[in-house]
Amino acid sequence: MQNKLSKAYEEMGIRKEVLALGDKILSELSERFQNIDRIAEICQMKVLSAMQKNKVCEQCFESSTGYGYNDLGRETLEAVYASVFHAEDALVRAQITCGTHALTIALAANTRPGDEILSPVGKPYDTLEGIIGIQPSPGSLSEYGITYRQVDLLSDGGFDYDGIRAAINDRTKLIEIQRSKGYQTRPTLSVAQIGELIAFIKGIKPDVICMVDNCYGEFVEEIEPTDVGADLCVGSLIKNPGGGLAPIGGYIVGRKEYVEQCAYRLTTPGLGKEVGASLGVNRAFFQGLFLAPTVVAGALKGAIFAARLYETLGYAVVPGGTEERHDIIQSVILGNAESVVAFCRGIQAAAPVDSYVVPEPWAMPGYHSDVIMAAGAFYQGSSIELSADGPVEPPYAVYFQGGLTWYHAKLGILMSLEYLLRENPLALPCNDEETVL
Ligand SMILES: *Cc1c(COP(=O)(O)O)cnc(C)c1O
Repeated sequence: MQNKLSKAYEEMGIRKEVLALGDKILSELSERFQNIDRIAEICQMKVLSAMQKNKVCEQCFESSTGYGYNDLGRETLEAVYASVFHAEDALVRAQITCGTHALTIALAANTRPGDEILSPVGKPYDTLEGIIGIQPSPGSLSEYGITYRQVDLLSDGGFDYDGIRAAINDRTKLIEIQRSKGYQTRPTLSVAQIGELIAFIKGIKPDVICMVDNCYGEFVEEIEPTDVGADLCVGSLIKNPGGGLAPIGGYIVGRKEYVEQCAYRLTTPGLGKEVGASLGVNRAFFQGLFLAPTVVAGALKGAIFAARLYETLGYAVVPGGTEERHDIIQSVILGNAESVVAFCRGIQAAAPVDSYVVPEPWAMPGYHSDVIMAAGAFYQGSSIELSADGPVEPPYAVYFQGGLTWYHAKLGILMSLEYLLRENPLALPCNDEETVL
């Protein structure tokens, strides 16, 4: 059996020494993988229970067009999301074009001129800089007289409670808490930490809206930020909760009054949730959510496997291979441009789609340096699918995430190492002996 597997990998371009190193790493990960599976199992029950409780039925998979009045599937799906997140209401729509759009809706819908938004966890995700107006941008919230304040995390990654207390004022309307580190070096927050932060903030100003950018965090833990006091939780359907099947979309869940404001902002005042044709995506949204706990488990296994593999080879990785996980992003600091390129080409070569394409670094809008991206995905930009990108600048880190199945994630990571070895022959610590490849 082992020989057959080894042969299957060899046919894919993974030498047996590389596979052997991978398998040695894996043999030390069984306990962690069991824990991931246990969380996925809990989340699966949560999703199933929400689907049963809200009576998902075959008619839910039908489609609406035009105004989209009385779309049973859309309404049931929103009830299912609300149940999964233990929230009062949800807005889950194909008309929400991406995670950034969902966040924009939530921020803009729940603030008015003169209000202030506070981020107590440092700089938000890059695309939010333009929305808030940290970077001047046409149509930003700042142009509407909504101001922004930020309190950075302390150098040990902890919350600056004194700073936060000092920053909250009469105008503070909404707190934006980003769960995932995104492409920064700060630690990702656990749901428990988010709960502590929210409790502290509500102790100072009980009526402030606590909103969590939940991107990349869904189903990584047994609970979600709405279980620990978040008033709103926002994310993208081409990340975790879409399970790889949602072709587009975003979600907003939380308190009814705030979700309603979001609906008025997404469509129009007065119409709110009543309109918005589902255009045939209902089945994919339901089925993707149903698969999401398993898909997230696979992506997490891939992230931990990569961390341990590259750590063993002497590279710095964030988070560390033995650290607890709160999102699915893994970064590996490769130290030079050639290695970043090689890594991404390996990920691309392992993809089910566009595997023959050779990614090149290019000047992307919004980045200071050239960026290389690997994405052989079924849906454009879908980062729950195995994908990697790296700005070609010091410290030459690559960020990667996803994998619709664990086996694909494993192949992709081994392939990244194969490509890296072509650039830098390394001594591989396999089978007690050192083998230079
Ligand atoms: C991906 C991401 C976003 C933006 O989502 P898009 O779908 O790329 O617009 C926002 N915040 C965080 C933390 C993210 O990871």
